Amino acid sequence: MSASRSKPIASLSVDLDNQWSYMKTHGDPGWETFPSYLDMVVPRILRFLEDLDLKITFFIVGQDAALPKNREALAAIAAAGHEIGNHSFHHNPWLHLYTEHDFEAEIKQAEQAIEMATGQRPVGFRGPGYSLSDATLRVLSRRGYLYDASTLPTFIGPLARAYYFRTARLNADERLQRKALFGKFSDGFRPNRPFQVVFDGEPGAASITEIPVTTMPMLRIPFHVSYLLYLASISPRLTLSYFKFALALCRLTGTQPSLLLHPLDFLGSEDAEGLSFFPGMALTTEKKAAVVSQAIGTLRRQHEILELRQHALEFQRTAISTIAQPEFGSG
Ligand SMILES: [Zn+2]
Repeated sequence: MSASRSKPIASLSVDLDNQWSYMKTHGDPGWETFPSYLDMVVPRILRFLEDLDLKITFFIVGQDAALPKNREALAAIAAAGHEIGNHSFHHNPWLHLYTEHDFEAEIKQAEQAIEMATGQRPVGFRGPGYSLSDATLRVLSRRGYLYDASTLPTFIGPLARAYYFRTARLNADERLQRKALFGKFSDGFRPNRPFQVVFDGEPGAASITEIPVTTMPMLRIPFHVSYLLYLASISPRLTLSYFKFALALCRLTGTQPSLLLHPLDFLGSEDAEGLSFFPGMALTTEKKAAVVSQAIGTLRRQHEILELRQHALEFQRTAISTIAQPEFGSG
């Protein structure tokens, strides 16, 4: 029971987006050779988590798992005891436009590559660019997934997209595909805490737990680390207060935060050439490391940090225990 835990729970994940996937979404030439920074960044992330004694979830892109050059870095994540999640095969942020059939093929291809590289078959999925549809959830549930973590309930998605597109080299078709990148304004009205999606009419009792990336309760502004780093590039002193305020609102509203990290949180201006269009990339590695340590250190002091698989199981256990037991007549 959750009563046995000394602190409220939180969960943490890494979206292991690679250099090529940013270039591809942004329309930069050269992504087709799949340039990778995984061998540089994965050891940094693993060391960081080991220092804090944390086991979390890594969402891995199938295409990366399929390339021999990334095998060592990806195997190290599994060897360190972290959960491996599925972050699609091609990292197309328009998965919600796929047919059910095409989405299933995409998921399957990713599962196979990821299991080959890490020895783990994922039970959790996060769509690139927070893309989600009824069809995607249905396929995941059918394939035995425990949870999906593809929603970011914020109002600022359209702003983030405008920022991203300002420097992008994309034609009209490509822009149309990326139309829902970072979500719609109405996403801000989506639930900010885990919930169960049940599919009527499917064989068996098909359902899946959705674990949203937590945004600030009530205000629905992001406060995951990449967003903090963007703020830090404007005002380093305000950043930690902002984060603490968000966590205080979570406590106040009984929201269990589920936050995420990205490789770029661990790569500074001197590491990642060609990604300078990305918010927060003006900071050095050292400055970023300070913000990341302070934020995750604060989260860890206030919460018991779980991987997403455990967060989903904990949610299912407590959600079910709050449903009243049916009363059976004695006669
Ligand atoms: Zn991604």
